[in-house]
Parts: sequence; structure tokens; C-alpha cells
Amino acid sequence: MPKSATADQQANNQQVLQLVSSLLDAFDRPLVVTDRSGKILFTNFHAQERLNAKGLSAKPDLNLFVDILHSDRQQILQQLEAGEQELNMPIDFASEVQRARVRWLPEPDWLVTYLEPAPQEAPADEAEMRQTVQELMQEREITYRNLLAAYLRLQEVNRQKTVFLASAAHELKTPLAVMKGYYDLLLTGSLGKLDDRQRDILLESKESCDRLIRLVSMFLNYSALESGKLILQLRENDLRDCVKDLTCRWQDAFQRAKVRLDIQIHPELGPFKFDYQKVQQCVANFLDNALKHTPAQGCVTLIAEPHFWERRISEAAPSSDRRRGGRNRPNSVLVSVSDTGSGIAAEFHQEIFEEFVRVDPSSSGMGLGLAITKRLIQAHRGKVWVDSVVGHGSSFSFLLPTNAE
Ligand code: ADP
Repeated sequence: MPKSATADQQANNQQVLQLVSSLLDAFDRPLVVTDRSGKILFTNFHAQERLNAKGLSAKPDLNLFVDILHSDRQQILQQLEAGEQELNMPIDFASEVQRARVRWLPEPDWLVTYLEPAPQEAPADEAEMRQTVQELMQEREITYRNLLAAYLRLQEVNRQKTVFLASAAHELKTPLAVMKGYYDLLLTGSLGKLDDRQRDILLESKESCDRLIRLVSMFLNYSALESGKLILQLRENDLRDCVKDLTCRWQDAFQRAKVRLDIQIHPELGPFKFDYQKVQQCVANFLDNALKHTPAQGCVTLIAEPHFWERRISEAAPSSDRRRGGRNRPNSVLVSVSDTGSGIAAEFHQEIFEEFVRVDPSSSGMGLGLAITKRLIQAHRGKVWVDSVVGHGSSFSFLLPTNAE
């Protein structure tokens, strides 16, 4: 008999505990119920979630004082038993600051603890926020002005540097022209007969002098382009003269390098308006590069011929030329310099037309020739490009419109 009474009692207790447990779940904040030793009796759903998140739920012998409050048990109990209704204390809950509010229920001798997030810092009021935003905007304005001032200073320094280099280059022009004149005079033999060795040395020196003259003129053109001072001398000129005149001056250099120079100038090339010197400089840049990058026994071919250049505009409105003859009348000239040299990898075909770009930095040159050529040709409303295959050679071309549209 007494045995079954005890069993009933236990079943009752179990029911009460389950009831309390489900009642606790009805609270929407984390609740932990312990006995006075700190042993956990109940946790509601929210507390369980917290303990899970902090990795404490699986801890054996989880204890309120040791694991959650990190406080002295005796002290807390003393305060509560002395009549303190609730202890409100900050706790370091797995490196997160929270608050614990601990109450004592004397009858079952339980401790009920609420866990709640630490109160947030009160948000700055609107006026304060507005002031902060204003301060930030002022700071931004100051930074922007400082940056602008620094940029303008840099631009000025850059301009001064270009002016300085341009005047230095300009100063070099006259002595170089004098030297070149004397080389030519000596080479004519009018100042005395030259033996082969003397002639060779003079020719080599003259070529170096020519190279310097080209570099100086290239730099002067570059600085003129940089400062927006490029003025084209557009006159009715004959491209055949322009190219022939230039190639005559290059024959010696090609012969000495044992590279064949083939020149194919179309007989139908008529006169049109272009800047003689500037176009000559563009062709010279192509020849200079071709010679530099073509080994002995190689060949460089210069072609100048009339060309029909179909710009996009003319696609939209077919020209009367085409309707009339059915054949596209040339409206431009095509100049190309092809070599059997080292060639250029496709990824550099655009880049080499930028300033100071050199595919092989060990080769001589400033990486300016093609950039200048591009700008000069574009100033003539033309276009310039390269076709090249590594190991087979390169072909640099430009188109110049011959009709003054
Ligand atoms: P650079 O004065 O250095 O020759 P350029 O602007 O004329 O400057 O040429 C840019 C680079 O393009 C050169 O450094 C070279 O690497 C490459 N290049 C130009 N022409 C040729 C060519 N015919 N064959 C191979 N590489 C070339």
C-alpha cells in the first residue's frame, strides 16, 4: 500500500514539473529556474536557445552561479534572503554583455533568473546626428578642395617639366643640324678623299646623329601635342615625293643593317592636302621600328597606294560615287610598312600606340614613336593600326583621307 502511494506521489510531482515547464515556455524572454545550489531545474524555450547558442546546453552539471552568473553564490543568496526582491546584474555571457535579473521564490526555495540583452546605447538625438552629418560633409568638402589643389599643383609641375624638356630638346636641334651638315659635307668628299673605313665611320656617326634628330623632333612633337599646340601645316602635297624623299635618306641605314628595303609607290597617287613633315615623321617612325626589329637578311616593304575607305557614315548613306560607277573610287591613301622581324604578340597591338609603352624594355627608344604617329594621323582624320604575328613580322599601316569632306 505505502509503496503505491509513493508511486502516485511521484507521478503527481512529475505532472506538476511538466506543467511548470510548459508554463515557462509561455514567457517570451529567457528564463532559468534553479535550486539554491544553482542546479538547473527548468529552462524555457528561449533560455534553451541561448544556452545552445553559447554551447552550454550540453555541459554536464550546468550551474547558474558558475556558468551563467559567474558570481559568488553565498553573496547572492545572502542579498536575496535579506529581503532584496530582485538582483539586477551585468553578466559576461560567453563574451557578450547581458543582464541577469535574479528572484528568489522562498516556498519551493527556487531561484528564477531572466536573461536579457544589455540595454543599447541610447541613440544620439536628431540634433546631434544632424551636427555629425554636417561635420562629415564639411570634412569631405575640405578633403575635396585639398585634393583639387594638389591636383592643380601637380598639373602645373607636370606642365613646367614638359616645357623644360621641350626647351632643352629645342636647344639640341641647332647643334645637331650643324653636325649633320658637316657629316654630309665630309661624305661628299669635297674636303678630302675618304677611304672606306673613314666613310663607314662617318656614315655610322651620321646615322646616330639622324637618330638623335628624330628623337628630339619626336619629343618636341610630343610636348606640342601635350600642350595642345599641334598645328598642322595642311598644304597640297605629293605623297610620292614625301615618301621618296624620306626613303632616300634611309637607304644607307638599311644597307648597313643588311635588310632589304622594297618601296612600292603606286603611280596613280595624286596630290592632296596633308602636312608634309608630319606625315614624313610617321613613315620614318614605321621605318625606324621595322629596321630595329628586323634581323639581317630580312626584308621591309613600304607600300603607298590609293584606297577606298568606307567609313561607317558612308554605310548609312551610300555615296553617289558607288551608285554612278558601281566601283568604289579611292578616297584615301594607304601607307604600310611590313617587315619580316620579330612580330608583336596580339595583346600588345593596342597598347603599343599608348605613350611610353615598349614591348621589350631593353630595346632602344622612348616608346613615343607610335603614340605620336597615332595622334598625328588622327589629327589628319586618318587611322593607324598594326597586323602582326610573333616570329613572322609586323605590318604597320595608316590611312589618310584625300577628300576634304
Ligand atoms: P620605341 O621608340 O620604343 O620604338 P614606339 O612607340 O615606336 O617606341 O614602339 C613601341 C613598341 O612597339 C616598341 O618598343 C616595340 O616593342 C614595339 N614595336 C614597334 N614596331 C615594331 C616592329 N616593327 N616589330 C616589333 N616590335 C615593334
